[in-house]
Amino acid sequence: MVGTHLALRLKETVRGEVYADEPMWRHTSFRIGGPADVLVIPEDTDDLVELLHVVADIQAPFYVIGAGTNLLVRDEGVRGVVIKLAGTLSDLARENGGVVRCGAGAHLPTLCRKAASWGLAGLEFAGGIPGTVGGAVAMNAAAYGSAVCEIVQSATALTYEGEHMALDRDELKPGVKATRVLEEPLILVEVGLALTEDEPAAILGRMQRCQEERSRKQPLSLPSAGCAFKNPTGKGAGRFIDAAGLKGMRVGGAEVSAVHANFIVNTGGATARDVLSLMEKVRDAVYDRFKVALEPEIRVLGG
Ligand SMILES: Cc1cc2nc3c(=O)[nH]c(=O)nc-3n(C[C@H](O)[C@H](O)[C@H](O)COP(=O)(O)OP(=O)(O)OC[C@H]3O[C@@H](n4cnc5c(N)ncnc54)[C@H](O)[C@@H]3O)c2cc1C
Repeated sequence: MVGTHLALRLKETVRGEVYADEPMWRHTSFRIGGPADVLVIPEDTDDLVELLHVVADIQAPFYVIGAGTNLLVRDEGVRGVVIKLAGTLSDLARENGGVVRCGAGAHLPTLCRKAASWGLAGLEFAGGIPGTVGGAVAMNAAAYGSAVCEIVQSATALTYEGEHMALDRDELKPGVKATRVLEEPLILVEVGLALTEDEPAAILGRMQRCQEERSRKQPLSLPSAGCAFKNPTGKGAGRFIDAAGLKGMRVGGAEVSAVHANFIVNTGGATARDVLSLMEKVRDAVYDRFKVALEPEIRVLGG
């Protein structure tokens, strides 16, 4: 009922899609999560700014997501408004000098393929990272020794009050699976990436090799949110989890993948409670054995 009321109020102003009591499992790669009071997919940046003004007026809490590939939404769902950017703000344009301007909601693997077809290299490592460009920059997504923020030239963000901000790479303050965007927080709406020219076939070949390795080493046939824990300095979290003998450990429908120990997979019907409880058991077991404190990489929303 709260959701319906809030949705009606937002529909008076917002031009994009507005859903009341929307199950969040539909919007996460984990396929887990209770309902958001309201989920909004704004039509464009102006619509997003209008939305920010309305939620401020009515003092509704809100959260920004991309494609939900790094998220665990709690079983109780999310009170307030979830603003989803995947499927909107998705323009991709090639500019002079190897710069590609991307809407924050653009699908990262689609961008990587497009850049390769334009003969622009630098994104090969990211071709298999699901999610949006905005999510990848906000999280400083990384693979095969490269991180997304290394190729960011500029970014446009909104403050939570709806003010525009221009940022360069250093101003994003990239860290390990972290940036200032998550800290403040800000909302990325556009990103400029600086790529270098190369032969499309050579770029595609390198991208394909990364993806083949990913298919061999990751449990891609089951829902997950990627790596559950950040890598402690110098060593993969998965190695500690594996060495502690935790592969295959289960709570309810959640399981430590036998393929990659740092992936928790939803084997069917897993709840957020199952995943959180399993993560706690893994953290405790790794700490007891190696005195290494694992930090979650998955972001938890709601409750
Ligand atoms: C099978 C699989 C493999 C994966 N492999 C990798 C990998 O190799 N490397 C890696 O780093 N990650 C990996 N991931 C995790 C995930 O795909 C990345 O972190 C991805 O970049 C998240 O993008 P998203 O759009 O889904 O963000 P979401 O999961 O929707 O959000 C993640 C965080 O970013 C914030 N956010 C999203 N969009 C914006 C925006 N426009 N402005 C401000 N904040 C925003 C959200 O608030 C949230 O805090 C993998 C996940 C899966 C399921």
